Amino acid sequence: SGSVSASTIKQVKLERESELRIEVGNEMPLKLRLLNGSAEIFGSELAPEMWLTFPPRLKFAVFTWYGATIEMDGATETDYSADETPMVSYVNVHAVLEGRRNRAKASSPNDPEASQGPRVIVVGPTDSGKSTLSRMLLSWAAKQGWKPTFVDLDIGQGSITVPGSIAATPIEMPIDPVEGIPLEMPLVYFYGHTTPSNNVDLYKALVNELAQLLETQFDRNAESRAAGMVINTMGWIEGTGYELLLHAIDTFKANVVLVLGQEKLFSMLKAVAKSKPNVDVVKLQRSGGVVSRNAKFRQKARGYRIREYFYGLANDLSPHSNIANFSDLLVYRIGGGPQAPRSALPIGADPVANPLRVTPVNIDRDLLHMVLAVSYAKDPDQILSSNVAGFIYITDIDVQRKKITYLAPSAGELPSKYLIMGTLTWLET
Ligand code: ADP
Repeated sequence: SGSVSASTIKQVKLERESELRIEVGNEMPLKLRLLNGSAEIFGSELAPEMWLTFPPRLKFAVFTWYGATIEMDGATETDYSADETPMVSYVNVHAVLEGRRNRAKASSPNDPEASQGPRVIVVGPTDSGKSTLSRMLLSWAAKQGWKPTFVDLDIGQGSITVPGSIAATPIEMPIDPVEGIPLEMPLVYFYGHTTPSNNVDLYKALVNELAQLLETQFDRNAESRAAGMVINTMGWIEGTGYELLLHAIDTFKANVVLVLGQEKLFSMLKAVAKSKPNVDVVKLQRSGGVVSRNAKFRQKARGYRIREYFYGLANDLSPHSNIANFSDLLVYRIGGGPQAPRSALPIGADPVANPLRVTPVNIDRDLLHMVLAVSYAKDPDQILSSNVAGFIYITDIDVQRKKITYLAPSAGELPSKYLIMGTLTWLET
């Protein structure tokens, strides 16, 4: 006996400059391979005949410049071919960036202006394909031997590390279509919330820190300076969100602004750039393949992202559960918190809480299910300006015995006892 499963293998022939858009089903992974021709996934070429396994819920497209046959094994939520894509305009942008990188490389490293490669910032509303375009530009550059720096300022749906963070990492190889951005050596700052409105000043302060640190790295490394950077941003483009975009453009000295699918944002940024002669603002079409994700999906995706940090995409990591005494760990919060009523303050004192003040947090049950960052700070004064080593997840607080149980990526002592708390929580399922 035993069940005989029907073959779920399916072949799709793609004409030149078309793509197969896929949403993997909710339960089972999907296997896929290139049978013949050539094809790429978000800028990363597929090796011939090699099966790749895509995890549930992943949404992606297999694009071909010259034609290809793709084979799939497994069920999808949707899959369809599309021959209208903005890929030609995207690759044209890549070609222009490539020219700038070559010019930067050829100039004297002593000329800081000329030796600086393109600093590209990708902006647009949520679900306009910003992360995807960033990824393609990075992979195409890496394929040609550059090591561009990827900067992700999206605290909601970032692709480098856990939500609530801003981060940067060099991209040395085309980005793996399944694994995504390698997590090896990212430079991470923990903001602690998934929307910038919680503490706009803190968000800006961390963007400043990250930009400064990258600037010193570029000063020392002509190769990465010439390769430039690609900066992904949040989908928040109105009001304060717009102000934060301008802040990011200035802080990172972006000289190419790519605006995806929003006429109004494009014309606003174009007007701003009139006073900045070396900033090019370019409008690009949104791909029809970009999948819209509602607030609930986003919320869920954040949870998966945290799970992935600890357990790996395919449950291939083994995080370690550790127990510490309350006195072993020092938890801090930045800004916010209860404000003293005006009546309790000395006359003339400002009742508004300092958004950048670092305050110690009492360890109690409130910490349960929080994701905390492990700071590289050696002193509380350094917490605001320090990047973080990684994250822990609080799984139990025993107030009586003053013990705290947490999940960490590995066993052993934490790199520092200074922990940063925000509002990032996770319910492990
Ligand atoms: P944004 O960064 O603007 O929020 P993303 O680049 O993350 O948007 O795209 C949203 C979703 O759509 C992602 O899951 C992405 O993988 C998917 N997606 C993007 N382009 C395509 C495409 N051409 N075909 C299928 N899915 C796509």
